[in-house]
Amino acid sequence: MRRIPLLLSLVLVAGLALVTVPQAAGAACEPGLPVYDPSVTSPGDAIPGFGDRAATSTELFDYVATVDADSARVTSGTFGTSVRGKSLAYALVSAPDNLADLSAVVANNNALRDPRATSADQAATIAHDSPAIVWYYANVHGNEPSPGDAAASILYELAARTDCEVQDILDNLVVGVIPTQNPDGRDANTRANANGFDMNRDWFEWSQPETIGKIDLLTRYPGVLYMDAHEMFYNSFFFPPTADPTYHEISDTTMDWINDIYGPAMADAFGARQHGGDFTFFNFSPYDFFAMVYGDTVPDTLFTGAGMTFEKGTQDQYSQRVLEHFVAGWASIKAASDHKEQVLNELYGSFVTAVAEGASGQLEPNWVQEPGNTVTREVPDIRVRGYFLGADRAYAEVARIVGRLMKAGVEVYRLDAPLEVGDLHEHGRAASAGTLPTGTYWIPMDQPQKHWIQAMLGEDTYVPFPYFYDVTAWSNPLLGDVDAWWTGDALSPAAARLTAPPAGGIGGSGDGYLWFPGDSGWAVAGALQLARAGVQVTRLTAAAGGLPAGAFVVPATAASAVNDAAARFLLNVTAASGTPPSGVAFTQPKIAVYGGGESSSHLRFTLGQQWGVPFDRLSGLAINSGALVNGGYDVLVVPGVSTSDLTRAKKNIGDWIAEGGVYVGTARPGGTGGTPFAVASGFTTSSLSTPTGLGVPGTMFRVALNDKSPVTLGAPDFGYWYGLGEQLMAPSTTGANAGMYPLTEPDFFVSGYASGADVLKGTAALVDEKLGAGRVVLFSGETDYRVYTTGTAFLLANAITYPLAAAPATIDVLSSAAASAVAAAVASAGPETGPGQAIQIEVPTNQAKAAVSVIERFTTNVTVKRARNSAFLTIPNPAGLDAEEHPFAIQLVPALEDAGVKVRSAIL
Ligand SMILES: [Zn+2]
Repeated sequence: MRRIPLLLSLVLVAGLALVTVPQAAGAACEPGLPVYDPSVTSPGDAIPGFGDRAATSTELFDYVATVDADSARVTSGTFGTSVRGKSLAYALVSAPDNLADLSAVVANNNALRDPRATSADQAATIAHDSPAIVWYYANVHGNEPSPGDAAASILYELAARTDCEVQDILDNLVVGVIPTQNPDGRDANTRANANGFDMNRDWFEWSQPETIGKIDLLTRYPGVLYMDAHEMFYNSFFFPPTADPTYHEISDTTMDWINDIYGPAMADAFGARQHGGDFTFFNFSPYDFFAMVYGDTVPDTLFTGAGMTFEKGTQDQYSQRVLEHFVAGWASIKAASDHKEQVLNELYGSFVTAVAEGASGQLEPNWVQEPGNTVTREVPDIRVRGYFLGADRAYAEVARIVGRLMKAGVEVYRLDAPLEVGDLHEHGRAASAGTLPTGTYWIPMDQPQKHWIQAMLGEDTYVPFPYFYDVTAWSNPLLGDVDAWWTGDALSPAAARLTAPPAGGIGGSGDGYLWFPGDSGWAVAGALQLARAGVQVTRLTAAAGGLPAGAFVVPATAASAVNDAAARFLLNVTAASGTPPSGVAFTQPKIAVYGGGESSSHLRFTLGQQWGVPFDRLSGLAINSGALVNGGYDVLVVPGVSTSDLTRAKKNIGDWIAEGGVYVGTARPGGTGGTPFAVASGFTTSSLSTPTGLGVPGTMFRVALNDKSPVTLGAPDFGYWYGLGEQLMAPSTTGANAGMYPLTEPDFFVSGYASGADVLKGTAALVDEKLGAGRVVLFSGETDYRVYTTGTAFLLANAITYPLAAAPATIDVLSSAAASAVAAAVASAGPETGPGQAIQIEVPTNQAKAAVSVIERFTTNVTVKRARNSAFLTIPNPAGLDAEEHPFAIQLVPALEDAGVKVRSAIL
């Protein structure tokens, strides 16, 4: 039944003998040649050409089922359905005895994760007796296929080999294998999933169906090792140790496992095989361990397991790429098995530490691990013993955050009585005493998930070292723009632990009307759902009758439809008595969306999937041909995408706005998107500029919101803008500057890393212009970036439901009074060089020449500008290629350092 897959197996057999390491003292297993059970189908038998070409996702998933049927060591299942409808398969491999009582294995592993319930003696017994769980998952980027085939090989070797080396592994471990995390992308050869999302950035948000199922699966089987296997545009192979920076709350324990157990095991395995350019590898730059968005950092922090990214260069033969991924995965699995008892003991110890740190309010310090680097920013000397989330505003956002915390195993409480707190810090503000009302959510830090709580709720990430592979800010309360506080006080308030996440529904007993606050994108989406269902919805444009500005009012007779909307969007609806205050009619507008690309994918997901709002996609050609007028559209949204196809439609769009259309623009770096297009088209008096030395790798800024525009209806006094290094937008001299970067601290506040950011102070974040009978709403950045930024997405929801009847009386940009300012703004618009942020490397000014000569080995397309005693070298990256896809980004920092250039900061 089984034939050894000829080429690959011969290599593997030779290779495995080499990878075998001596057993710990007293172990019985003497490593030898692998021995296979012929009744287990090999991937070479199941998949024609296996190892020389990328197996399809169906072949990989079918192979999982085949091995499950062949072997008592394998149990398989599915963890969800991809966007295109594929069932997502996984396998668990272990000794049949372990699989027969998987629930006991899980219970034992979970017991190690709660030292409040498990004694040290009990933990030691579990560590000795129970297997650990490890995970290997591949191909989250669909166009990086080789680790998917390596996953099938790993599954086979574990299922089929009867020699003592594998017997030991199976006794010690339950190995979870996901051969592809992105079957739609694998089969279409695309990096993203079918919704256009980079799922190696979705481990943070859990928005995509593939991610949601995966997080549920990993939560069911929490492991001590998570391997996420990729490919990159390069040769060689990357595995940890990782580059600086490392996120401070990542536990020392998992870093030790990565650096002392797995990294050396892989280095040994690769070193033993190196010949003729094969099995070369590197560590460190550019793969850091910072952004809490990846398949390594997130499971590491969420589960306290070693998270590791593997990257194999695509310039080698396919079979070699598969083989090297196999060797990296196998060496790590073997090392986990060899160190199982130590790892499980230390897992328990790390949770003892986490709970103790939480009780004393101690944050983990910053550190660096690359030779020659030093910490450039310490974690501040503060005590954080708990977080609070206010329930009185933006309830839908707060309920979502609480639900996400609970899904991550965080214990959340609700105050049963008002609580006086002496040391109470509103996020991004100094401490003051205050009283929190009954119903406020309380998240104490003295619990096992302390690291995850800090990662999700902390007001800042305290970047220790200024090299960036991705974003630097992800505070949940800021992203959702909810009321949030932290305290250093040790408190024991009257509070009840939540047993279920907060839900939506109707409270109160009045029989006059129903209302809910219009203070989140979810609330606007709920109101739109009601309007589409034929319910009469009005919205208050100012506070009235005890209801807040922006509130939605519906007739009491609509209770059934309101219940549906409340359940879906987590709305807190009140049944009130008497006659409702009057507002403006709220109806579903006809919405057009322009553009393809990442920003458009995020926008369409927000509108269609998250809010359930209907819209049409219009091409530049269609808009050029008059589709906005002919189609009767009310709203056009142009996100942070290239607008080169829209250039000829300027007049068409302008005429449609003048007739009463609402134009909504957002921006990406490089003068790209609907906002720069509007500036270039003469739709605003706001001008754009690109300052030198502004370093914003993915950062949140507090902006002041005011009530000069209905776009801020229901919003608080401050919002949080997600910055990716977009151009600065000057305040409009004609319209309503409804959002402004504050001029001074403490209102001006940065979460994450920014350099040279003072130039943002006093610039516009949100502008609302009158153009004829219509409006032009311009955001200086993205409103729905990666669908992380639900707080600013609320303002997008307000913009697409703009109440023209409540528009402010601002100067018409078509008027002669505005003409010269409009012309100046048009002149400020430069050529589009985005949407990708340029690579920016900061070096000392006296090393600029040396740095340029290094960079010119890769490209001559580099500009140098000086600011603040540094030279900033800028290399355009218009497509926004990730360092792993970019032809040379990965090589820049090492090449500069080799040449003796001091790299002060790098945004790759
Ligand atoms: Zn990748």
